[in-house]
Amino acid sequence: GGATPLAESVDVRGVSYRYPGAAADALSGVDLHIPAGQIVALVGENGSGKTTLAKVVSGLYAPTSGTVSWDGAVVSTDDRALLRASTAVIFQDFVRYHLTLRDNVALGDAERLMGPDPRLDDDVRNALALAGATFVDGLPKGLDTILSREYSGGIDLSGGQWQRVALARALFRASPLVVLDEPSAALDPRAEHELFADVRRLVTGRAALFVSHRYGNLHLADQIYVMQAGRVVERGSHEELLAAGGVYSSLYRLQADAYAAGLSAQPSEA
Ligand code: ADP
Repeated sequence: GGATPLAESVDVRGVSYRYPGAAADALSGVDLHIPAGQIVALVGENGSGKTTLAKVVSGLYAPTSGTVSWDGAVVSTDDRALLRASTAVIFQDFVRYHLTLRDNVALGDAERLMGPDPRLDDDVRNALALAGATFVDGLPKGLDTILSREYSGGIDLSGGQWQRVALARALFRASPLVVLDEPSAALDPRAEHELFADVRRLVTGRAALFVSHRYGNLHLADQIYVMQAGRVVERGSHEELLAAGGVYSSLYRLQADAYAAGLSAQPSEA
């Protein structure tokens, strides 16, 4: 409940952010435009500010300076709860509850778990389907399955399956903005491609901000922002950025060469 629909866009203007006690800004003068119906991707090396920016957009951090606006209306620091209520956030450190599959999804909107809700199971199933969690069809206990081997009849999920449950939890809230910090360690490139394609499907009527740690699937994003040391250094579509021959194109080619040489199917850092 409490989500504000998104008609036009979420806009970040001149945002800087400094962590308490830090000597330097983690973000400096960042502009970001996330239109309804589009996927915007953030890419850049570790420590360039992608996650920090995603947390500012989600209302988890208040910018040190600059603004975040929702359909043109600036969200004041005191109103960040509105941003949080309207944003479904899936960060890499998403929570794996030792609860039933139903609860793991419905906790995305905990108020609905409180009272009797005849539509709960249908909505949970819809969210799981939308998140591409096809593995749930084969569970003997269905939504009552406990997602932990520590319980009798419970099961363990793979990293990729947990990612789908976390996505379903976010979708259950029907939030107009989905912020996804890509789980680079948990998914192989093919699973990541499928996840990206699913986000593409569900972004109709919503917007998505995708924090990416790899370059291989970014052609699926509408706009890519390349970050370096807390600043946006390039923006454009995959084709535009390749043609520009800048930071994005050299990093993309480096990573493509690494894949081709079979050096790594996955980044080595977790
Ligand atoms: P990315 O997501 O691109 O890897 P981050 O947004 O996590 O980058 O980090 C941006 C900068 O902010 C880095 O210099 C990082 O060390 C710093 N930073 C991140 N989290 C914290 C924190 N909780 N406290 C202090 N500094 C942080």
